[in-house]
Amino acid sequence: MVAQPVVSAVCHKLPLLGKLIPQAKAQQLALVAGGGGFLGSHFVDALLTLGYHVWVIDSWHSGNTANLAWATAHYPKHLKVLTADVSQANVVDVLQAELADSKLTLALVAHLASVASPPRYQQCPLHTLMSNINGTQFLSKLAAQHGCTFLLASTSEVYGDPHVHPQPETYWGNVNPVGARSCYDEGKRTAETLAYLAAHSPTELPYQPGFAVRIARIFNTFGPRMHPADGRVVTNLLRQALAGQPLTVYGTGQQTRSLCYVSDLIDGLLRLALLPALAVPEHTPWLAPINLGNDTPITMLALANAVAELYPTAGSVVFEPLPADDPQQRCPELSRAKTLLGYAPTTPWQQGLADTLAYWQNHVNVCTV
Ligand code: UDP
Repeated sequence: MVAQPVVSAVCHKLPLLGKLIPQAKAQQLALVAGGGGFLGSHFVDALLTLGYHVWVIDSWHSGNTANLAWATAHYPKHLKVLTADVSQANVVDVLQAELADSKLTLALVAHLASVASPPRYQQCPLHTLMSNINGTQFLSKLAAQHGCTFLLASTSEVYGDPHVHPQPETYWGNVNPVGARSCYDEGKRTAETLAYLAAHSPTELPYQPGFAVRIARIFNTFGPRMHPADGRVVTNLLRQALAGQPLTVYGTGQQTRSLCYVSDLIDGLLRLALLPALAVPEHTPWLAPINLGNDTPITMLALANAVAELYPTAGSVVFEPLPADDPQQRCPELSRAKTLLGYAPTTPWQQGLADTLAYWQNHVNVCTV
């Protein structure tokens, strides 16, 4: 009888796991930069469950070793954690030395190493910018040399404050290059350009057969392991509701977001990184970016009112100034993800809030911030 893999609470919700588990992944290595972060650590758990060996690279700017507790407890022999900063050139030497000593075959390099919360990345703008730019340059080159897939975690922020709604991948965006958010927005836009060049400039950037570039444009995502004090709207409202504090709504609250629960997002990332059916036309390494997220928009005021109704301890709504360059609307157009990946988010945000809350209650230490 084949032993069933141990699966984390979030990964239990992934429809793809059952389909990919039978594939033999022995001795295959996935390298996850930012694997100690919110999204990165769930992606690590999913890859381990699928049978990959996983090396996490993290600078611990916003990552947290506690996010890897589940992986460490259940897959200690398949997990290695390296402290390194993808914005620094020596990251390549560190990785090449580790790879030379290993018998594993590099199958995937995933770049999820960037602070992603607007108030947090504005505290370290240069590091945010360079993690995205240098990190993409170094890690895509590594993937090219090893002839494996390079997955870039890009963002809906490449659309800026969009004039087109919902946003299809073909929309070029409306981004302020010299504003509060530009370190992140332009960092991700340049990262996409670098990934594009890695796939299109073989004379300057030679690659081995098997090299593939995949870019996920990730829309607002939330769930367990997001830091309660990270400053984003879901964590703020949930934390405020639990503490009996007023619920902060910025501006008039008429701006919209669409909120994706983390298991849906990880499902999309796995599909994009691993689906063998993703045949690329003419065998080029390039596949144009794909939106991932949830496509049900809600105004921030409606969200706060719903949180107030769901959680009786919540205080009333208070309005605070709208931060600079805050997009008015944001919602992914998902038809490309649906057609190419069979992707369809399934978790309503109300369920996601309940699951996030349950996680916080089971991890008392994450709430003492
Ligand atoms: N927001 C809010 N109250 C908060 C935090 C954020 O009303 O306590 C708003 C913010 O102005 C933005 C939206 O919620 O319009 C989403 O903000 P978040 O920081 O979560 O992510 P963004 O989509 O802006 O990157």
